[in-house]
Amino acid sequence: MTKTAMTLELLKKSVRDIPDFPKKGIIFKDITPLLQNHETFSFIIDALSEELSKLKLDLIIGIESRGFIFSPVLAYQLKAGFAPVRKQGKLPWRTHQVNYSLEYGEAVLEIHQDALSSGMRVAVVDDLLATGGTAEAACRLVEKLGGKVEVIACVIELGFLKGRDRLSSYNVFSMLNY
Ligand code: AMP
Repeated sequence: MTKTAMTLELLKKSVRDIPDFPKKGIIFKDITPLLQNHETFSFIIDALSEELSKLKLDLIIGIESRGFIFSPVLAYQLKAGFAPVRKQGKLPWRTHQVNYSLEYGEAVLEIHQDALSSGMRVAVVDDLLATGGTAEAACRLVEKLGGKVEVIACVIELGFLKGRDRLSSYNVFSMLNY
């Protein structure tokens, strides 16, 4: 086993499974043990930065809420800007909105209308990719403003939910696949 493969196995072990949270039938991937250890957190940030540094990004978009843990750190490392995509009603200025489907019902994500300018090279960052609906909605907001989504980057991918298929027109990078 290579050093990186070994580390990835260790990282996977530091993600805690919480059955039936926030509701029955969901196994929630709790990343707090991974964050509270300097070595695991810095390994994640360094690996994501290395991958994203190839793309000459102007802006890192973080998706509320756990996307906010990683995206500003990456923006700092990559000398790019940071802008949030948030749930409805949280952003203070003028927004664009997009509706997207959740497992049950619909939700709305928003971006500030001046979050980016046309032609900017953007990464969309979240903690976890499940069905891909959230990431896809964030990409639509970026594209509404003329931005170019160079990558969707996540720490965890729940591969069995096939989010990657839904996002087949995008470059998707994830570190830990389950
Ligand atoms: P989806 O839109 O289905 O790809 O869901 C991705 C979003 O929901 C991300 O913002 C995740 O933080 C959150 N999420 C979905 N499933 C889980 C899970 N099993 N554990 C932790 N977060 C999840």
